[in-house]
Amino acid sequence: MTIDLRSDTVTQPTSAMKEAMLAAPIGDDVFGEDPSINALEQKTAAMFGMDQGLFCPSGTMTNQIALNVLSQPYEEVLCYQGSHVYRYEGGGAAGTSGLSFRLLEGKEGQVLPDEVLANINPDDQHFPVSSVLSLENTVNKAGGTVYTEQAIKELSALALEKGLKRHLDGARIFNALRVTGQTTESLGKYFDTISICLSKGLGAPVGSLLLSKNSFSKRARRMRKVLGGGMRQAGFLAAAGSYALDQHIVRLDEDHVRAKKIGTILSACNFVSKVIPPVTNIVIFEVAEGIDDGIFLQDMASVGILGVSFGKNLIRLVTHLDFDDTQLTLLEERLKGLQK
Ligand SMILES: *Cc1c(COP(=O)(O)O)cnc(C)c1O
Repeated sequence: MTIDLRSDTVTQPTSAMKEAMLAAPIGDDVFGEDPSINALEQKTAAMFGMDQGLFCPSGTMTNQIALNVLSQPYEEVLCYQGSHVYRYEGGGAAGTSGLSFRLLEGKEGQVLPDEVLANINPDDQHFPVSSVLSLENTVNKAGGTVYTEQAIKELSALALEKGLKRHLDGARIFNALRVTGQTTESLGKYFDTISICLSKGLGAPVGSLLLSKNSFSKRARRMRKVLGGGMRQAGFLAAAGSYALDQHIVRLDEDHVRAKKIGTILSACNFVSKVIPPVTNIVIFEVAEGIDDGIFLQDMASVGILGVSFGKNLIRLVTHLDFDDTQLTLLEERLKGLQK
């Protein structure tokens, strides 16, 4: 049996989820007539205390729409240098919205108020106008780290004071909230837009939502159409997401426990030089000196463990809905067997 830990996106819908999908009432969503999508949009907006939910095919699209509606061309987005919006969206913000990025070093992926302050451009014709602060939570590239509510509060207040719009890439926000215990309702007030993903830890096959405040909602819906994200009878997909929100949030704790166990197992393996202590469902480890991460990934694959390369000498493993304790035991045996 292959143990697939490349991402939490590799999950299959459960049979109960499939039943929920088949039972979904559907309609043409571009006409605003898909009851399952309307229900999901309203439910998620209410959860986070936002005015509108907008169902989209992917988190890349929700992020790109957000950056677009919060800015004008030639302006600049401030974000952590490892952010998904900068690294993993094909340069979309430059092409779609004419934006540049100001990259912040961060600490464990967390943007710090001081560096935000130091990187806001003065009002001078030479510089792009600093217009958006984009945070990611959990921070994928840093190993699934989590912002405290206090940190979010401070960054949000600072952005507001300096006239920056505030976006949250919450692809894994439910993982973060399981750790901090913060409620979804309390998060909405810190941001103008929030992107959430249903197809990561929540285990739905497709879908993300862009939650927004009223002032950006109409433009967001327009941009979704412009980018080709206006879908028709997509209520089947919304129903999967709705089911995931009801059933798969609390169980994220299990993924976090298993990630910590993997961290402990890896720390004891002689091919590992460092493990970033897992906080949520992401485990990043560094292979020992003299080992090539690409070749080591092949060695792992040959014993039925799949991960991804995550930078020089770094490998990422992600726990998810389809990874259980039986697989964890098997994983431990296989990893130990890889020791030289
Ligand atoms: C996965 C992910 C997204 C969205 O990716 P899609 O594959 O386009 O749905 C956005 N941000 C982060 C941090 C992610 O991990």
